[in-house]
Formats: sequence, structure tokens, C-alpha cells
Amino acid sequence: MIFLATSNTHKVEEITRLLPGLELVARPSWLPEVVEDGGSFEENSIKKARAIALATGSPAISDDSGLVVDALDGAPGVHSARYAGENATDEENLWKLLSELVGVSDRSARFVCVATYFMPNEGFVTFKGEVEGRLLDHVAGHGGFGYDPIFVPDEGDGRSFAEMSMDEKARYSHRSRAFMDLRNYLDSLHQA
Ligand code: IMP
Repeated sequence: MIFLATSNTHKVEEITRLLPGLELVARPSWLPEVVEDGGSFEENSIKKARAIALATGSPAISDDSGLVVDALDGAPGVHSARYAGENATDEENLWKLLSELVGVSDRSARFVCVATYFMPNEGFVTFKGEVEGRLLDHVAGHGGFGYDPIFVPDEGDGRSFAEMSMDEKARYSHRSRAFMDLRNYLDSLHQA
């Protein structure tokens, strides 16, 4: 059994599809929320996985991710989940970003994800995935979560992540790239 350091249902669903065959359990509600005060995706990812692995005594997998916007010097970055305030909704964060970008011509951005596998008493490994894209000035699509309705991956066909099925998004996404490497690592452990 491996604990996931997230209770975000969208993330749990995406990660479960990316790691088939593993017994994954979403973050139990009795565990206190980890304060994500690290300065990097790596720091926050390791912190989340460590907290849950040490509390449960079982291996844990975490995902720390966010959107890095060039015209905003990397914002919202590690603050992506709370860009519009501590308890902001996805929608509030999205509208804040759109308002910051009104009239801005450089629309380049990337999603970043750092996945950590933390084994109690043994240490941890991290895997980073990224996807380059550009930001729309309006929302497009109803799928996904977070900033998906305004993010169009460069490698795609012009549709936003929110206009794609989960399988299509997984072809390009930062999360699938990080978790594919993690999956290969776990497979190599089992073959050793
Ligand atoms: P955290 O990893 O839980 O700290 O938060 C990540 C935040 O980044 C989410 O709340 C979203 O706002 C944003 N984000 C991360 N990955 C995605 C994605 O795949 N699509 C859209 N937004 C994302």
C-alpha cells in the first residue's frame, strides 16, 4: 500500500491512471495538512511525501505542481494553488491570472510537476516533468481543473487542456511525464 500525499480528487484520479496496478490510498483526512512553504516544487514535494510516510510508516508518493508564467517572472509558481488568496478556489486563481495578463503579449508558460517517492527509513527519489505552452486570454473547455481552461500545450493541436480527455491530456502533461519516470523507477525496483 502506498499513500498519496494529496486529497485533490482530480490529482488522485490522474495519478491513479498513471500508476496502474499499484494499491494507492488518498491522503487520510486525520493527517494535518502540510504547510507548503518551500521555495521550490522539489522542496514542497519532498516535504509532503516525507510527512505522510513518517506518519503512516508506509511508502508515500507526492505531487507538487504549478504554473510558471514567463511574463510574470515565474508567478504563480509554487503559489499556484493559492494565487488569489489562502483559501482561493481554482476559478478565483484562474481569473486573477487572466486579469494580470490583460494586454500582455508574451503568453508563454509551463506546467511543472515534481513527484516524490518517499520510503520510510530508506530515503526518497524525485522526478520532474514539464510541459511548455501558451496562455489564452479567455477560458476554453470544461474538463480538468486549475488553470487547464487557459493552457494550450505547444505540442498539441491548439486545444486547451480543459478541452481534452484525461487520456489526451496525459500525452503531454507535466504530471504524466514525472509519473512515467516514477513508474519506470518502481518497475526497476521490482525487477532487481
Ligand atoms: P499543489 O501541487 O497542490 O501545491 O497545487 C498545484 C496547483 O497548481 C493546483 O491547485 C492548480 O492550480 C495548479 N495545477 C497543477 N497542475 C495542474 C494541471 O494539471 N492543470 C491545471 N492546473 C494545475
